[in-house]
Amino acid sequence: MRELVRWSAATMADALARREVSSVELTQAHLDRIAALEPQVHAFLHVDAEGALAQAKAVDEQRAAGADLHVMAGVPIAVKDVVTTAGLPTTCGSRMLEGWVPPYDATLVTKLRAAGMPILGKTNMDEFAMGSSTEHSAYGPTRNPWDLGRIPGGSGGGSAAAVAAFEAPLAIGTDTGGSIRQPAAVTGTVGTKPTYGGVSRYGLVALASSLDQAGPCARTALDTALLHAVIGGYDPRDSTSIQAPVPPVVGAAQRADVSGMRIGVVRQLSGEGYQAGVQANFEAAVALLVEAGAQVVEVDCPSFAYALSAYYLILPSEASSNLAKFDAMRYGIRVLPEGVADPSAEQVMAATREAGFGPEVKRRIILGTYALSSGYYDAYYGQAQKVRRLIAQDFDRAFEVADVLVSPTAPTTAFEFGSKLDDPLSMYLNDVATIPANLAGLPGMSLPSGLADEDGLPTGVQILAPAMGDDRLYAAGAALERALTARWGGHLLDRAPALPREDQ
Ligand code: GLN
Repeated sequence: MRELVRWSAATMADALARREVSSVELTQAHLDRIAALEPQVHAFLHVDAEGALAQAKAVDEQRAAGADLHVMAGVPIAVKDVVTTAGLPTTCGSRMLEGWVPPYDATLVTKLRAAGMPILGKTNMDEFAMGSSTEHSAYGPTRNPWDLGRIPGGSGGGSAAAVAAFEAPLAIGTDTGGSIRQPAAVTGTVGTKPTYGGVSRYGLVALASSLDQAGPCARTALDTALLHAVIGGYDPRDSTSIQAPVPPVVGAAQRADVSGMRIGVVRQLSGEGYQAGVQANFEAAVALLVEAGAQVVEVDCPSFAYALSAYYLILPSEASSNLAKFDAMRYGIRVLPEGVADPSAEQVMAATREAGFGPEVKRRIILGTYALSSGYYDAYYGQAQKVRRLIAQDFDRAFEVADVLVSPTAPTTAFEFGSKLDDPLSMYLNDVATIPANLAGLPGMSLPSGLADEDGLPTGVQILAPAMGDDRLYAAGAALERALTARWGGHLLDRAPALPREDQ
């Protein structure tokens, strides 16, 4: 039974279709694994054993009755806690939403349920998706299954760790500046940020609305594509949703073909500042793509130097506005100020926001309200929007000579808990390679590129494509994955050290 959890999602789907395994068996195997490992890993904030098993049972019954089911019917999944789930708590890793049970499902959750995918639970994250380590979760951090003393990335560290620890075959993440891709890189898993507007934002608790994008987390390119196809597509409830079919991501992952593809290495996104093992594995990955038939060109994106600065003005500005709704009246907890007999609405609001938000959220609200204040709006927010345009133009030029762009995903491997917590700027630097895609609305994927020589920890390679060219990510990603797994003699995760209590 324990081996079931190590199957790919594609294998699970095939075995379910052939009735070699039931969804109840698969779901129970993951719930057992979660029960055994969660004391160490803490990938979940909430586990819904009852709901997941009920969904699994329903799918098994439909299959037995000969119903025409979705290909992914019966494959279980974990969902990041920033996505609303009717009847299941949704806290965004914050005290502010402790105990909140949404009355509605996000569109992507509606799609998971319609496909018959049992939801195992909600995964841990940095508070309101602000961070790169899950250390900003109000409920304690998630640990990296590769080394329990290290971070699993963030903000979606819970989703990546759940997948890396075989607690779930698939998970949903959200990526505003890298929160799907950077956790994938440091846990040896795969994650895709789709084209902005490619997956509905309806029901995602907003961080920065012009940057947020939900997407799939998995262990292989094909599994990632299969989930991408379930959740993608037009949604009239999201005004920024793209009215076009989901790009052919599954077919691209199956073909895994890069022959003739032009791969652009972004000069500004590697080299200095990148850990030696990250850089070495990146260069080896590019060489493998060439062996597989791709051509390499170097591209220049000079404005990327300003991406991080622009992002840390635009994101806090949008976040400060989005988080204004947590005002003790409309959403979230209500805290009365101590020792005030008849508190005003403003005093209740202040006491609530003081108690409900953690330090990183407060820092960004202060930054954002400052950047948007009347005297400074043009100098900060306005200027950052101009930089955003320049970054999009750099991408346009790069895609004239390349079909996809590549870079390391994150500058380093997983760092130790506490090592960046007191230094927000060094925490922000984790996103240096992932942020440009969010600013331009483009799709990006991270895949395992190997283990760094110096510390034996996973490294990631990033692939970027033009808007609605998500299928190119999977064509290149699956080709690279095929070459790398042939070299490694299996999946990178097969080399992860056994976890304590793994055998229970
Ligand atoms: N680490 C980035 C930040 O803190 C990314 C966040 C995200 O993608 N949600 O803003």
